[in-house]
Amino acid sequence: MVNEFDVVIVGAGFAGMYMLHRVRSLGLTARVLEAGDGVGGTWYWNRYPGARCDVESMQYSYQFSDELQQDWEWTERYATQPEILEYANHVADRFDLRGDIQCDTRVAAATWDDASARWTIRTEAGDECRGRFLVMATGCLSSANIPDFPGRDSFEGAPYHTGRWPHEGVDFTGKRVGVIGTGSSAIQSIPIIAEQAAQLYVFQRTASYSVPAANRKLTADEVRDVKDEYAAFRAFNSLMPTAIGSKQPIPEASALAVSHDERERVYEARWDEGGLPFLGAFIDLLFSPEANETAAEFVRAKIREIVKDPKVADRLTPKTVIGCKRLCVDTGYFATFNKPTVELVDVSSTPISEITPHGLRVGDREFDVDAIVFATGFDAMTGALLNIDIRGRDGQSLRHAWEAGPRTYLGLGTVGFPNFFTISGPGSPSVLTNMIVSIEQHVEWIADCMAYLRDNGFDRIEATPDAQDAWVDHVNAIADFTLFPSCNSWYLGANVPGKPRVFMPYVAGCGR
Ligand code: FAD
Ligand code: NAP
Repeated sequence: MVNEFDVVIVGAGFAGMYMLHRVRSLGLTARVLEAGDGVGGTWYWNRYPGARCDVESMQYSYQFSDELQQDWEWTERYATQPEILEYANHVADRFDLRGDIQCDTRVAAATWDDASARWTIRTEAGDECRGRFLVMATGCLSSANIPDFPGRDSFEGAPYHTGRWPHEGVDFTGKRVGVIGTGSSAIQSIPIIAEQAAQLYVFQRTASYSVPAANRKLTADEVRDVKDEYAAFRAFNSLMPTAIGSKQPIPEASALAVSHDERERVYEARWDEGGLPFLGAFIDLLFSPEANETAAEFVRAKIREIVKDPKVADRLTPKTVIGCKRLCVDTGYFATFNKPTVELVDVSSTPISEITPHGLRVGDREFDVDAIVFATGFDAMTGALLNIDIRGRDGQSLRHAWEAGPRTYLGLGTVGFPNFFTISGPGSPSVLTNMIVSIEQHVEWIADCMAYLRDNGFDRIEATPDAQDAWVDHVNAIADFTLFPSCNSWYLGANVPGKPRVFMPYVAGCGR
């Protein structure tokens, strides 16, 4: 029997859960289909040691319910993965969402039928359901990227991907471990793995910029201060393009308009305060190569100061623009390389040539390990969508429509796919912002749109080619105005061999 709903939502992370809550409040019927066996999305899957948010907890949380934000108690400046997952579960229970969420259900295909104006959604198990609207809440960073190293499946030890971490945790005590990658996930997990492992090899292709998290317990007073003025706090943060607020002053000057000493003072203050607002020190850090170089050089000097062996420090020092890859936020990352049991292996010019039954080979050196951690990231922004065989009007496939890179209107809809919405889709601010704010904006837009269609007797909506073309041009023009496209980042799809190089997020942000 086919199940009929007004709305079918794929994914039960923060986007899918809020979408369900909003469509219910419109009186619409909905079903959420989720591949995992629980809610939380990112925070359900990424259980690696050290996983935590890098947008402050009191901001990295929903604001649609004041009761929720008043009741929930965040304990640390940057919440741990278990705490965020607990929050996601609390939201599911508090808003009684679970009854409409079907877990352990991976969607394989979705097909639009123009005559009935309905989507038919098929799961990997072969079950079907139908919906007037299909909302993809499948996540920007949910499709794990595991490079196809020769011999990958021959490894006889334990392989892990940070985004598919075992629920029972992993004890690396006394083990020889190889971590591939030095992005945000690696940078959070390496210091903790290094505390346990007998020997840790870190295979680095590109050095990353990272700033200290300066994480700490939240005090009762600071929590109360925010809660007393939560609406005003949120309103202030929403004025920022990234929707991330900071105790640091809003920048007004170019990095090049102040003296060297003043610049160092500002960077030092931001370094001590910790976190992503480091890049907000001056107005032009992401626009002017010369301005950017001053911030980059400040961080490079910190790396040289922290890492004792100058050769290791040099290898850990990025040469690129700071911020054009996602800035990392760490707790003790660079200092970890002072441990005698930690070795940095440069695979930039001599790549990992193969994975063997006992470890990894780089050039003529073999590294015997008991476990390999693939901290190799995600097929970002499009991966989870294109894993599904989505067929729109006249049977056209999304994979075909996006062959040369994703094309959307506002990151929300795409030509040829009626009644099809993507929450934080390519072409939206999403990953360049506090994502929960961006998610809430999209969910509210989609819900308002559904209400409008219903109230005005329309049975379908679709982006027009002109609107989509203009939006894609605008997204590209804004990106080209910045330094973002200047390095091989996952924002550009450069981390996945064969993926079209298109700058996917919308740089101008989600500020109001
Ligand atoms: P997700 O949480 O990714 O949820 C998508 C869900 O869709 C998943 O549960 C997945 O199983 C499901 N799904 C996908 N495909 C299918 C399918 N075919 N069938 C059924 N189900 C499917 N953002 C920030 O703003 N601040 C942070 O500090 C931050 N930290 C992060 C840390 C990590 C380790 C990672 C990986 C990302 C982080 N992000 C952060 C980004 C984060 O992804 C978002 O903040 C947010 O959690 C995304 O929510 P979502 O619901 O859109 O997607
Ligand atoms: P990532 O940033 O894409 O990092 C992947 C790492 O793997 C990179 O160092 C990459 O090197 C390396 N790699 C990939 N393929 C390789 C290969 N074939 N050989 C050698 N090295 C290879 O992925 P991530 O660390 O999982 O982070 C993804 C995003 O998730 C982040 O940017 C962030 O938005 C979010 N995140 C946030 C936090 C947080 O602090 N809250 C934590 C984790 C993740 P190259 O750089 O050379 O490609």
